[in-house]
Amino acid sequence: SKHFPVRRKLRDLFNRTHDAVHAVDDVNLILRRGRVTALVGESGSGKSTVARLLAQLYPRTDGDIKLHGLSTRVRGGRQFRRYAARVQMIFQDPFASLNPVHTIRYHLTRSLKIHGNAGTNAEELEAALASLLNRVHLTPPERYLDKFPHELSGGQRQRVAIARALGADPEALLADEPVSMLDVSIRLGVLNLLRDLKERLNLAILYITHDIASARYFADDTMVMYAGRMVEGGDSETVTQSPAHPYTQLLIDSAPDPDRIENLLGDHADRGNGEPPSLINPPSGCRFHPRCPMAMPRCSRELPTRLEIGDQPGHWAACWLYDPATVAAEKPGSAAV
Ligand code: SF4
Ligand code: MG
Repeated sequence: SKHFPVRRKLRDLFNRTHDAVHAVDDVNLILRRGRVTALVGESGSGKSTVARLLAQLYPRTDGDIKLHGLSTRVRGGRQFRRYAARVQMIFQDPFASLNPVHTIRYHLTRSLKIHGNAGTNAEELEAALASLLNRVHLTPPERYLDKFPHELSGGQRQRVAIARALGADPEALLADEPVSMLDVSIRLGVLNLLRDLKERLNLAILYITHDIASARYFADDTMVMYAGRMVEGGDSETVTQSPAHPYTQLLIDSAPDPDRIENLLGDHADRGNGEPPSLINPPSGCRFHPRCPMAMPRCSRELPTRLEIGDQPGHWAACWLYDPATVAAEKPGSAAV
């Protein structure tokens, strides 16, 4: 969980009784090597906060992040440092994440050196640099090494950012909207590269996106976030073909047809109906209840727990519709506004 304190002035201004923004609450997920896990949600759903928490860019309010089952709770401790090396982040804007006054050689050398992968002499370093650029298909490497970030296209810069992450020899990549700032025509190429690296290097990849159609195309597992909480999860095929949570259904209904490849990865962001709620004073019970066409009286009273769906192992939704006793006692939609 991550709560940001609200300054007193702002609190008085909005006449709020709560003193924190509940950016992320009770998020629980497992990344596995050799799998891409998509975290899908509208802007403001907390998905980027999850990425920054997992990158340990700031401390969490509550909870733990483990690597191979071992806690990283002690900041600066041995397991924390190990995690920082093994889990690398790729940012949305490759231009902002690369220093404009330094060459590609500088960026990649620095990553290799920090993580002890630069070899013991100049030849080994040169070979390691070439291998990084080959891995992200920037070939021949000598054409790119001495260029500055502004001399490359957006897609090439993102490939350099990926190469820099690989310089750490990571086990996991955290990719926060890695293609949304790139031209539509090159997005697929970068996602295919990430998928290829997942296979070849047995990486765990967290793919954060507002685009559920691309999650189906690219991710093995899909988790959906709404208003700081995870509302549904399962394998991507199941979640996108048979969405269980009313919010996931809304996302899918407002996304273009994922079977048409030309619709994939276009600029069709954030087209859910209505506004996501304020996270300063989130709705009671299920946070989706003010927008949910299936809402029942219990939904505004009680936070739904994760419930297993049907016969698909690992498919769950946090929704009272999957609690037979609730559905029998309270008609679905009876409390919808
Ligand atoms: Fe939330 Fe109730 Fe709608 Fe399920 S049915 S999404 S619990 S409001
Ligand atoms: Mg974001």
